[in-house]
Amino acid sequence: MKIGIVANAYEHSKQVANQLEEKLRHSGFQIDHHHPDIVITIGGDGTLLYAFHQYEDQLDHIRFIGIHTGHLGFYTDWRDYELDSLVESLCNDHGESVDYPLIDVYVTFKDRKDVLFYHTLNESTIRRINNTLVADVMVGQQVFERFRGDGLAIATPTGSTGYNKSIGGAVMSPQVEAMQLSEMASINNRVFRTLGSPIVVNKNEWIHLILENDKDYILTVDQHTYHLNGIRDIYYTVSNQKVRFAKYRHTNFWRRVRDAFIEDES
Ligand code: NAP
Ligand code: MN
Repeated sequence: MKIGIVANAYEHSKQVANQLEEKLRHSGFQIDHHHPDIVITIGGDGTLLYAFHQYEDQLDHIRFIGIHTGHLGFYTDWRDYELDSLVESLCNDHGESVDYPLIDVYVTFKDRKDVLFYHTLNESTIRRINNTLVADVMVGQQVFERFRGDGLAIATPTGSTGYNKSIGGAVMSPQVEAMQLSEMASINNRVFRTLGSPIVVNKNEWIHLILENDKDYILTVDQHTYHLNGIRDIYYTVSNQKVRFAKYRHTNFWRRVRDAFIEDES
């Protein structure tokens, strides 16, 4: 089995990476950063997001494992002092995995024929700097609403505890194959009206934004930020691809939510 290791820039994470590499080699694993079967990240959720995008064109055969060196994460199940037990689990690997939904994002332009395509693991947001973002929001083939405000976020179930939660979105179980659209500071008065609450859209349904203006947009895809002009439409759908995690242990999702946001009993 070939293993790739991705650590964040903290000295401690780099030390853990070196220790892990040593232990893996000692147990007969091959370290391969180009075509790994398993990618182990060391750091936080952000490190896992970074690794996901590094390897996003190999999602069909890679499984991820997250080790956290700081606080509990949503994509990280192992602590930095558990390397021996992690290596032992890898030695006894039977391909156990759990997969989580991703969202496909397509951006089209007014004067360009090419289409930008992204996968998102947490969320994609569209915002407009300087001016109000105005967009017709279509769900499926239906016009749903005309949105005016700071922006919109479309989150995966595992991303629902990230930015989505900070803007009033619901926390969603990752067993639900769906995506969630949440508003950022919508304008609501007698003239302008939006639903004003998040919506959850099923797999196989599309969310389609038709943007009124063409300048000054910021599109984010997880931790990445793109400054875009000339956008016409953005399409979102639950992806046919999924992200897979090697699961040798299982932290119950609601337990994780409780530990992260309410009270850590561990
Ligand atoms: P970051 O600024 O370190 O992320 C902000 C916080 O969000 C960190 O504590 C991060 O955990 C945590 N986080 C990331 N993914 C999460 C998830 N799925 N559920 C719960 N918490 C999560 O930036 P980053 O590490 O590159 O991560 C980018 C993500 O951070 C974005 O996709 C977005 O979801 C989130 N974010 C949230 C806000 C906000 O709530 N206002 C603002 C910016 C970004 P770690 O410390 O373990 O990395
Ligand atoms: Mn981070």
